[in-house]
Amino acid sequence: MKAQRYSKQRELVLRTVKDHLTHPTALEIYGLTREKDPTISMGTVYRNLNLLAEQGKILQIKVPGGADRFDGIIEPHNHAVCTKCGMVMDYCFDFEDLSRSLEKSGFKCEELNITVRGTCKNCLTKADE
Ligand SMILES: [Zn+2]
Ligand SMILES: [Zn+2]
Repeated sequence: MKAQRYSKQRELVLRTVKDHLTHPTALEIYGLTREKDPTISMGTVYRNLNLLAEQGKILQIKVPGGADRFDGIIEPHNHAVCTKCGMVMDYCFDFEDLSRSLEKSGFKCEELNITVRGTCKNCLTKADE
């Protein structure tokens, strides 16, 4: 019975990440899952997030100097992180160009993962006011 309850909560954690494509932190995911299942514990949320990331069902994004974020989009893509408010945005990058220029130096690219740090549109607008 215990195992069944855990897998149901794992399903809830997975669904919550897939439903919120704002790159939530574990704490945010915990808050969102609590709305659906008030019995879920912080430890269960953490454990399941790590497990789902290990299984490749979600992405775990390391944010330097901040809490890890989780992403329901598992196709390769890149992130731009706002250093002011912590917002994480998806962006696409032309892998081919970089790959070609690196191959000229004899380096074969297999995976691209560039996290850009900067200031988001909202924070820039606020700074102008
Ligand atoms: Zn910002
Ligand atoms: Zn993303």
